[in-house]
Amino acid sequence: MSHSAECPECAAKVTLPDDAVVGEIVQCAECGVELEAVSQDPWKFARAPEEEEDWGE
Ligand SMILES: [Zn+2]
Repeated sequence: MSHSAECPECAAKVTLPDDAVVGEIVQCAECGVELEAVSQDPWKFARAPEEEEDWGE
């Protein structure tokens, strides 16, 4: 059984490996963004932190 959740960036369905855990990093095949699984049951993604970026302030 595989898990999947929506990409927060493009709403594509992203499949997680069977043994995925919270904190798993996967890449969206549609938009290429890196996603971190932030919760399971149901699975939810957030954008994974990329390189150190200056977010401004
Ligand atoms: Zn996406």
